[in-house]
Amino acid sequence: MIKVLDSLDSFIDYRNDISSKVGFVPTMGNLHFGHLSLVEKSLVENKITVVSIFVNPKQFGEAADLENYPRTFDEDRELLENLNKRYPDKKISIFIPKEEDIYPAGFDQYISIESLKDISEGETRPGHFDGVATVVYRLFNLVKPTNAYFGRKDYQQLLVVKELVRQKNLAVKIHGLPIIREADGLAMSSRNIHLDQEQRKESLSLSKSLLKILFDLQTNGLESANNLIQKMLEDKRYNYLEIREANHFAQAKPSDTDLVIVGNFQLGSTRLLDNVEVTL
Ligand code: AMP
Repeated sequence: MIKVLDSLDSFIDYRNDISSKVGFVPTMGNLHFGHLSLVEKSLVENKITVVSIFVNPKQFGEAADLENYPRTFDEDRELLENLNKRYPDKKISIFIPKEEDIYPAGFDQYISIESLKDISEGETRPGHFDGVATVVYRLFNLVKPTNAYFGRKDYQQLLVVKELVRQKNLAVKIHGLPIIREADGLAMSSRNIHLDQEQRKESLSLSKSLLKILFDLQTNGLESANNLIQKMLEDKRYNYLEIREANHFAQAKPSDTDLVIVGNFQLGSTRLLDNVEVTL
């Protein structure tokens, strides 16, 4: 049986009794195979895996997006229980903090990763990465993980977390794991359930565009790929499409070899995020 810790005090007591390696997978719930791939990697590498489920209000812009975010705890627990059965000598516990556990009254200690917060995803979602860096820092302080697992789907978020760890000297190893996709290429996301049938079809434009840009980049070079992006951006559903240097996330230069093509596509009120990494 998986342990569910739903208060700060119970989690602290639980954590203080653990002396083995702890793997940590922070999530906002509504788990899918993308999340489960992170949990499975953590199960392989650590005796104990903590999965947190916390829909972090500080990383949402619009109130409606926060309200509509899918909350499916019973299904989430069942998925984790089934996964844990395949690793009988390992343990998963679920930490579901309350909002006041993470943000006590009078809270004002935000963390900002200045070099990353206002570009790409940050430019179209002001304050989002302050919310991400802040919640991850606070969760790390409680969970004290040896290893923490993040998806490369949220590529910029992964860089924010790595920079947080570097700047705060945190003793945790960050692992970035591959994007898990549906059979037709759509990157799995908790937000995909908001897509209607028509939008679900249109959603493929994003991964297809990223692959076209990748092909152009590899065959014709950066300038040509950037021209292609300019044409694609005439479709106003793209919040952005950009080629960035993969480690520092600066605008790509012709001399860069490690690149990431990042994009965000808007379908109704649903934002879809995706990327493709490439080494030239
Ligand atoms: P979320 O619940 O959306 O905050 O995501 C929790 C973690 O799962 C983050 O590290 C995400 O990057 C990761 N994740 C979400 N979707 C995917 C996916 N399709 N493939 C791999 N990792 C993912």
